[in-house]
Amino acid sequence: MNNLSLALLFLTLLFTSNSLPAQLLNEFYWPLEVKTAYENHTRSPDGNPGKNYFQNQADYSIQAEFFPDTKMLNGVETITYKNNSPDTLSNLYFNLFQNLYKKGITRDADVDAINIHDGVKIKRVSVNGILADSNLYRFYNTIFVVHSPVKLTPSSNSTIEIEWTEKMPVTDVKRQGTYDSSSFFIAYWYPKICVFDDVEGWNAVGHKGTAEFYSDFGNFDVEITAPANYLLWSSGNLQNADEIFTKKFAERIKQAAQSDTVVQIVNEADRKENQITKPSEKHLWKLNSENQTDFAFALSDCYLWDGASVLAGSVRIPVNSVYQANAKNFKLVTRISQLTVDFYATQLPAIPFPYKQLTAFHGRRGGMEFPGMINDDDFSSDMETGFVTTHEIGHAYFPFNVGINEQKYGWMDEALVTFIGLEAFADQIGDTNFMIFGEVIKSYQEKAGSQTIDIPVMMASYELSDQPAGFTTYIKPATALYLLYNYLGKEKFYQAIRLFTDRWKGKHPIPYDLFFTFNEAADEDLAWFWKPWFFEFGYSDLAIGEIKKGKNANIITIENKGGYPVPLILTIKYMDGTKEVIKKKMDIWKTGIKSYDVGVPEGDIEEIILNNAMIPECSNDNNRIRL
Ligand SMILES: [Zn+2]
Repeated sequence: MNNLSLALLFLTLLFTSNSLPAQLLNEFYWPLEVKTAYENHTRSPDGNPGKNYFQNQADYSIQAEFFPDTKMLNGVETITYKNNSPDTLSNLYFNLFQNLYKKGITRDADVDAINIHDGVKIKRVSVNGILADSNLYRFYNTIFVVHSPVKLTPSSNSTIEIEWTEKMPVTDVKRQGTYDSSSFFIAYWYPKICVFDDVEGWNAVGHKGTAEFYSDFGNFDVEITAPANYLLWSSGNLQNADEIFTKKFAERIKQAAQSDTVVQIVNEADRKENQITKPSEKHLWKLNSENQTDFAFALSDCYLWDGASVLAGSVRIPVNSVYQANAKNFKLVTRISQLTVDFYATQLPAIPFPYKQLTAFHGRRGGMEFPGMINDDDFSSDMETGFVTTHEIGHAYFPFNVGINEQKYGWMDEALVTFIGLEAFADQIGDTNFMIFGEVIKSYQEKAGSQTIDIPVMMASYELSDQPAGFTTYIKPATALYLLYNYLGKEKFYQAIRLFTDRWKGKHPIPYDLFFTFNEAADEDLAWFWKPWFFEFGYSDLAIGEIKKGKNANIITIENKGGYPVPLILTIKYMDGTKEVIKKKMDIWKTGIKSYDVGVPEGDIEEIILNNAMIPECSNDNNRIRL
């Protein structure tokens, strides 16, 4: 072989091994960085991680002290950072989330003036023991950039040490804060290295208040010092309960962790007696967790504490609820947590519960998820309590166990969790036909088709706030998943969620990985569904069009006004009192047709009704015709 043909062969090999099939490229929009990731085989068109997939690992060892009186937190951390990427990293990007409350910072959601401060103070940063030059620090919104004194080469392990001090919110804010004078939910509290991934490189847009988070996986070794009369609950597993608790309470914690029924670990009388922890000025809480994406903790000297456990599959998981003495519905949360953890571990996604324990903290302002913890309001109704508890626990799988980039694709976890959360809730209330999902459909119908709110789901989450954020992160993609569930049937749809969870647990999928995994589980290329519902403007709206009376049959034309594929149910009532119901799956629209003819048996038609409450329908004009 001469040099020219060798070169040609090489080029051909290069071309064929790197290019994506044309059919796939034509199916929907491929941003260049996503296309490049698939061409580089870090991701694969079959929905699996590609053969060159990588993710960096960040293990945290943190020592911190929290001062309830001043809400100050001082900490020092060592991040052991494994650079598994093929790139050499010389600038390191961190999130200082409490800088959301820094004076003058860019935000897309209001914060109370009382919480504004001068920002997180970085005392020092060193990499592999060498101090970074503080003159080269850069700060923009919540991002902190350090010019590393050492280049982080591919496959290197580096230790990054950071010492800092910060003020935590003095009131309850979104997702975290101070709930009474001595009860705190402490989240987003340590300098956290941004994710460097195969699609974006550094994911360093920062946090503006609305869009959520994106995290490396890592092991946490955390030590928190707090005044001795405070109890602490966290994302981790407590290593030194016997050092902190008096014998009676150490026993109760152990008892609850093995109990199917709820044990009052700390009740009001115990709080009055104040002999829960051993006498001391302060206690050091030693906590750890493995392969986790974040770490939060809560402290209180007055909250009550219920505990129980649930045998979820083959593993017994302790579940706890901690709440103010005047809470109304929070006492239900331990029991709901048991049922929910069991549902997720054994039914959907039927993957072992990712944490060794779970604590529900009584907070305010809706609900929020953290690894091994949830922070939820005390709702006035049992329904809301059940709905929010099941939802927030569902986040254990997405975005945590499956590491979703919520900054860009917040819908991935919220839509999946809206779906599995409602399935868990439906299971608990005996809603065997999953009618509860009708509530999501109602919400969809209220806003769908509005130009400023109903925008394509694939818009980057961090560009959105207010109504478009809520609609495109939760309501619209969850509605789409529900339609897919109807189309595929429960078994295949559950299998798709299970396959996706199993494939991507401990990893960072993007939407294309989800689409391709669902395609595989469905045994069908569903691009005709993904493209309109996730990439394009449009909505769900069918209408009854022309009615033609034929010799042996009547033809009713159904017009697709909104452009999105949706199923149809046509009910035809005849003058003689008989009725015909015709159902068509949403793939009748897969070729992009705008109208579809339905043949119905001949006879004198009295009334035609199109669709029902479980099929999203944005305009009810022309959905019911009396002849
Ligand atoms: Zn959620």
